[in-house]
Amino acid sequence: MTLSRQDMIARDNDDALAGFRDEFELPEGVIYLDGNSLGAMPKAAKKRVADVVAKEWGRDLITSWNINGWFDLPHRLGDQTAKLVGAQAGEILVTDSTGINLYKLLAMALDLRPDRSVILMEDSNFPTDNYIAQGLVQQLGGHFEIRFASREDMQDQITDDVAVVALTQVHYKTGAVFDMHDMTRRAHAVGALICWDLCHSAGALPVDLGASNADFAVGCGYKYLNGGPGAPAFLYVAKRHHGQAGQPLTGWWSHAEPFAFERDYRPAKTINQMLSGTQPILSMAALECGLDIMLRADMRAIRDKSMALGQAFQDLMTAHCADAGFTLASPSEAAHRASQIAYTHPHGYAIMRALIEHGVIGDFRAPDIMRFGFTPLYTRYVDVWDAVQTLKTIMGKNTWQEPRFSRRENVT
Ligand SMILES: *Cc1c(COP(=O)(O)O)cnc(C)c1O
Repeated sequence: MTLSRQDMIARDNDDALAGFRDEFELPEGVIYLDGNSLGAMPKAAKKRVADVVAKEWGRDLITSWNINGWFDLPHRLGDQTAKLVGAQAGEILVTDSTGINLYKLLAMALDLRPDRSVILMEDSNFPTDNYIAQGLVQQLGGHFEIRFASREDMQDQITDDVAVVALTQVHYKTGAVFDMHDMTRRAHAVGALICWDLCHSAGALPVDLGASNADFAVGCGYKYLNGGPGAPAFLYVAKRHHGQAGQPLTGWWSHAEPFAFERDYRPAKTINQMLSGTQPILSMAALECGLDIMLRADMRAIRDKSMALGQAFQDLMTAHCADAGFTLASPSEAAHRASQIAYTHPHGYAIMRALIEHGVIGDFRAPDIMRFGFTPLYTRYVDVWDAVQTLKTIMGKNTWQEPRFSRRENVT
């Protein structure tokens, strides 16, 4: 039995998370299925950033570092993030970008395994992770190498010459999910460390870094955590590794006593060691609004709704767009993918451009992937129905063949 629009409205009426939608600024007439790439704006962020500009920066000036808690923001936001990903207070900092944090953590991991030479990574990972590791290996002068493996072969490549396994838990294109407990156990079984990239996990599904005994992790602030464009990222170091090894970006914030202004570097013995320098306070303030919403929502309910939205999308694609040339590129079972669904289509780029012009925003990843993200805090069931109907119309009328939809933009 295929779902009707009425069924979808009924589900929205029953949805325990429905109230959260009103906390986000969402433009009229747009169905936003790209929260996996840039989360929508919390209404609270608008006011908060304006307040920080006017009162904290404008009026309190430099005293804000103390009286408005600016200095402590990486920890305060880190402790909030910790609750979302199963870490303890003091194990996470919000700071810098995902790529920069990964650089610091991989260097630290290599420092902890000096007798080993391999960083094991996934060949089809989001490229920045691989590029960052390649840059690090080059800096370190040829003592280390990166071994790339496919997702399927990964577990067989975890051998006893591996210093650190660096994996993204949720694949950025397909949404496929690695079993964090299992892969962490396999890494530890051969004496390797593991570093998880949680960019498409944090805020999308339950994560338990502590229970899985992970060593390190990074994650993104501007995707499911709704922190705003360029929001700072987070990094996690398990308590047992604090003060045990070095990281290369030894700026003054990572010093044992930044305000002693000593000539020579001495690392902090806490997670502070992972800081580098002064942080973007306005962006931090915006991210705190996103985290605050996320912490009030039940992660189990988010996961259940995310799976239900994805399943509905998949079912409706089968029912309404079966002959249009789309091939599912995500795991077919909702339990094996995170909060997004991908289809390949030979004309994926033009079709996505046409969809966006018709008010349904997803994104395109070369060479042929169309990606649709479902963000349970603000995506409705009826949006999923309407999105598939729009796609059906575009395919039926061949709208996507208009030449302007094939012209490449800077950002896809
Ligand atoms: C989004 C994403 C990033 C982002 O990296 P930036 O340093 O913020 O540009 C990194 N890795 C993965 C897997 C991502 O999905």
